[in-house]
Amino acid sequence: MVSKRRTLPMIPLRGITIFPYMVLHFDVGREKSIAALDEAMLKNQEIFLVPQKESKVEDPTEDDLLEIGTLCVIRQLLKLPGNTVRVLVEGISRGKITSVKNGDFFKATFQVIDEEVEEISEKEDPIKNDEVVEVEEINNVEIEALVRSVKETLHSYVRHTGYMPQEALMSLEDIKHGGRFADTVASYLMLKPEDKQTLLKTIDVQERLEKLLVMINKELEIAKIEKRIGTKVKSNIDKVQKEYYLREQLKAIQDELGEYDEDAKEYNTYKEKIEKAKMPKEAKEKALYELDRLRNSGSYSQEGGIIRTYLDWLIDLPWKKETKDNQDIIRAREILDEDHYGLKDVKDRIIEYLAVKNTAKTMKGPIICLVGPPGVGKTSIAKSVARAINRNFVRMSLGGMRDEAEIRGHRRTYVGSIPGRIIYGMRQAKSKNPLFLLDEIDKMANDFRGDPADALLEVLDAEQNNTFRDHYLEVEMDLSKVMFITTANTLDTVPRPLLDRMEVIEINGYTYEEKLNIAKRHLIPKVLKEHNVSDETIKFSDNALKLIIEGYTVESGVRNLERNIASLIRKSIAYMLENKKDSVSLNTKMVEKFLGHPKFMYERAPKEDRVGVVTGLAWTMYGGDILPIEVTVMDGSGKLELTGQLGDVMKESAKAAYSYVRAHVDDFKITDKFYKEKDIHIHVPEGAVPKDGPSAGITMATALVSALTGRKAKHNVAMTGEITLTGRVLPIGGLKEKSLAAARAGVDTIIIPEKNKHDLEKLPPSILDTVKFIPVKEINEVLENALLK
Ligand code: ADP
Repeated sequence: MVSKRRTLPMIPLRGITIFPYMVLHFDVGREKSIAALDEAMLKNQEIFLVPQKESKVEDPTEDDLLEIGTLCVIRQLLKLPGNTVRVLVEGISRGKITSVKNGDFFKATFQVIDEEVEEISEKEDPIKNDEVVEVEEINNVEIEALVRSVKETLHSYVRHTGYMPQEALMSLEDIKHGGRFADTVASYLMLKPEDKQTLLKTIDVQERLEKLLVMINKELEIAKIEKRIGTKVKSNIDKVQKEYYLREQLKAIQDELGEYDEDAKEYNTYKEKIEKAKMPKEAKEKALYELDRLRNSGSYSQEGGIIRTYLDWLIDLPWKKETKDNQDIIRAREILDEDHYGLKDVKDRIIEYLAVKNTAKTMKGPIICLVGPPGVGKTSIAKSVARAINRNFVRMSLGGMRDEAEIRGHRRTYVGSIPGRIIYGMRQAKSKNPLFLLDEIDKMANDFRGDPADALLEVLDAEQNNTFRDHYLEVEMDLSKVMFITTANTLDTVPRPLLDRMEVIEINGYTYEEKLNIAKRHLIPKVLKEHNVSDETIKFSDNALKLIIEGYTVESGVRNLERNIASLIRKSIAYMLENKKDSVSLNTKMVEKFLGHPKFMYERAPKEDRVGVVTGLAWTMYGGDILPIEVTVMDGSGKLELTGQLGDVMKESAKAAYSYVRAHVDDFKITDKFYKEKDIHIHVPEGAVPKDGPSAGITMATALVSALTGRKAKHNVAMTGEITLTGRVLPIGGLKEKSLAAARAGVDTIIIPEKNKHDLEKLPPSILDTVKFIPVKEINEVLENALLK
């Protein structure tokens, strides 16, 4: 082995080791290292590379370096951004450091250990050649053996890891020198930096090969273990997957067999619920049948969902549950009186009804139908009845209903079918004997889908309704314990067969006094309670209430009155908070302040007797009103002019009155030429509410005669009645409302048709006391009473 001492710029290497014959590039960043590179490039591009013992050390000294490094030739330099240089070097030989100079860069003096130079030089010598080979062979039997072992292990290693390409293995075959073989293998392998350094610093070839063999074996073992762990992990994962798969299959099978846990649970809960629901036999059998179907239909099928909904309906219905009726009639009356002012008629009839029911022990008998304008308390009295007899209350509006299926439900074969409203109501009622209010029975319609009234007939028929069958439910439900009450605004549009089954109780509009009382005793306390305010805090004066009733509401009932009271109370609360007040007394001024100017002004009857001006009476959906009629007569050509607010029926009445007067000119001592020489103008001033109807007939005739004869009409007299061409006076409707309106307008005498006399019984005493009623049969009686001589 020839030793040569060299001195070269040196770079300490961090984490890498370069073996001779190895080509490698690495990046250089440290200033000193770059300076060393520069120096090397200026000379013969040779450089000495020495691994650092610890790669962490940033600024190494001699002690931090391995004593063995590699003499390299720089093959390429590449400047990278950020003061880094990439160098490609080729290892030439090992070198053993003798001294290091630390300056701008490291300069190392080292002993070159040139393993192959020796061999090559020997091989180059033809004389010695054989010997050398011989010597080598002799000397290197062990080395040869080691090389083979390394090769075998390496093959095995590559088989296990696939780290090294096959070509690299092949290239090893060409290497004859053991040292070079070891170095080449070491440079291919993924060894730890320490191991690489160990190999670098082991100069002795045999020793180096031995160490390499140990290292490869170690790596091979590690690779084997890694592989084993890998398969183990993989087989573990496979097992989990397989189990999951099997479980899923099992679930599917159990599903098919209807044995899946959750299904079983669901089945049991349903079964329990069905038992608890106490259904009649038919319904129970149906429920159990459907439950079986549910079990077979699979948990998530659409069919399953439909069955569940159906079962829920069956279970939720009150098959057995009943509330116990309050038998105490006296207490019932108390409750009715507590809730509503007046309505004596209604209350009497209801008490009567309950009394009969108590003794007869059956609910059979006509259904009560409450008829009256909106807001008179039909719904709320029904609710109060429920409270009085201790029954659950449900309400269903029939308004606008035009399909039989709304009452009786859709067959379950339709998608999204549901039970009818009766069954809906029964579920809501939660008892089999609720008070069931059927609102607006007069507003039902019918079309091609069938008449809801037919279905309703069955519901209301005591002979049939114990076996009411809803299309959706498909099983019978007993409605015979239900107390039905219906409401309507008018009976005109209630189907005849339905009407026959009902006992009609009329609730008329309220008089001013009644409204005042209802407001004071019920509405104000109720609204105050809703707003959590005491009656000491917000007070209404009587005049304020009068103004609210007359100036802001036009109605038979009290719904708008209630609304206005609520509005005033809300505004008062805000007013108190804003003005830091503890209480408010509402007088007329405050009412106007909060509600604005009065919206309505009731018309007053004329203050004096006049020619051609007569007060008629009208009935509107908001209650009664006065209907002043004015007639003037002028010279002309016999024209009859009608102006103002006249509906078609009123025009007919006007013409009838006109004809009657023409036919009876002699009776009235009128010139018989008036229809040729005079133009007659009848005018009906526009009021707040449109009016029409035949009841203005006698009023028109009276005004005509007054105008034609010049006889004044009495201002304190009002009238209502239809007139025929022969002068008979026919009966009219809405007498109570009309009387209330007349009294309000300042009239003290009302002429009414004889046939309406019996209606007088229903009038409130306050009216009968102040107003004189004159029943008449013929128009001349009217004229006698209404016109001055
Ligand atoms: P309807 O059903 O006739 O249209 P509601 O029952 O809805 O009328 O009544 C409207 C409001 O008037 C309800 O708050 C009701 O309590 C109230 N009301 C109607 N009449 C009376 C009365 N006689 N006594 C007390 N409050 C009444």
